[in-house]
Amino acid sequence: MTWLSCSGVIIFLDSIIKATEILRNAKSIAVLTGAGASTESGIPDFRSPGSQKNKKYDIPVEVILSHSFFLNHTDIFYDYYRNNLIYPYARPNECHIALAEMEKLCRLDGVVTQNIDGLHQKAGSTNVIELHGTTEKNYCMNCGKKFSMDAVCGAEQIVPKCDKCGGIVRPNVVLYEEPLSEKSLFDAINLVNNADTLLVIGTSLVVYPAAGLLNCFRGQNLIIINIGSTPFDGRASVIINEKAGQVLKKIVEELKN
Ligand code: NAD
Repeated sequence: MTWLSCSGVIIFLDSIIKATEILRNAKSIAVLTGAGASTESGIPDFRSPGSQKNKKYDIPVEVILSHSFFLNHTDIFYDYYRNNLIYPYARPNECHIALAEMEKLCRLDGVVTQNIDGLHQKAGSTNVIELHGTTEKNYCMNCGKKFSMDAVCGAEQIVPKCDKCGGIVRPNVVLYEEPLSEKSLFDAINLVNNADTLLVIGTSLVVYPAAGLLNCFRGQNLIIINIGSTPFDGRASVIINEKAGQVLKKIVEELKN
C-alpha cells in the first residue's frame, strides 16, 4: 500500500503503519537524531551527496573541525564555522515538531541528538541530550565568561575575543579529537539502554561514539528513518528511506487516530 505525500513522493504506507503501531505500544521510546533531522530546516548535513560545502578550503571537514586545527588555525576554523555551521535563522521543521508532539502522544522518554543547532528544544522537546554540544553557547577559553551565539556571529574580528580578558571565545561544541561530555554520554546510554523502542532519524550512523549507542540498545524494536542506508539497517524492525519531516508528520497523524 502506498501513500502520496504532499511533496508528491510515494511512500510505503505499510512501513508507516508498522512504525506507528510499534510506537503506540511502546513503553519507553528513545530517539537518536543526526544532521538529516535538520536538513529540511535548510541546514546541510555532512554526508548526503553534494552536501559538502567546504569548497573554499581543500581540507576534510573532520580536520577543519578538529581540536588541533582549532588551536593552530583558529581564523580558518572560524571562517568555516561561521559560513557552514551557524544558522541563527533556522527554524524547527516537521521532524522536530512531530517529535515534540510525540512526547505528548506516546512514551517518548527523550531525544539524543548529534546536532548542535538547538532545534529540538525550539520545537518544544523537553528532554534533549546534546551529545556534541550546541552553537547557542560559547565561552572564553581563558576566564570562562559565557557568550551567546549572537556575540560570536556579530563579532568584528574573525576570531571572537572575550571583552573581559581578551581570551579566545570558543563554541561549546565537541570538536573531533575531543571527548564527549561524560554526563551527556552517561545519560544517553541510560536512555537508550532502558528503552524498548529506538527511533533513529537522519544519521548515517558512522560517527562514533554516537553510533555506538546502537550497541547499548537492548529493546525489541529499532526504527530507522533515513534517506541513505546505515550500517545498522540489518537490525531494524522498520526502515523508511524517505525524508524524516513528511514521514514523522504522517506518523503523528496516525498516532492521533
Ligand atoms: P551525516 O551527515 O553523517 O548523515 C546524515 C544522514 O541523514 C545521511 O545518511 C542522509 O541520507 C540523511 N538525511 C539527510 N536529509 C534527510 C532527511 N530530510 N530525512 C531523513 N534523512 C536525511 O550526519 P550525522 O550522522 O549526524 O553525523 C554528522 C556529524 O556532523 C554529527 O556529529 C553532527 O554533530 C554534525 N552536524 C550537525 C549539523 C546540525 O547540527 N544540524 C549539521 C551538519 C553536521
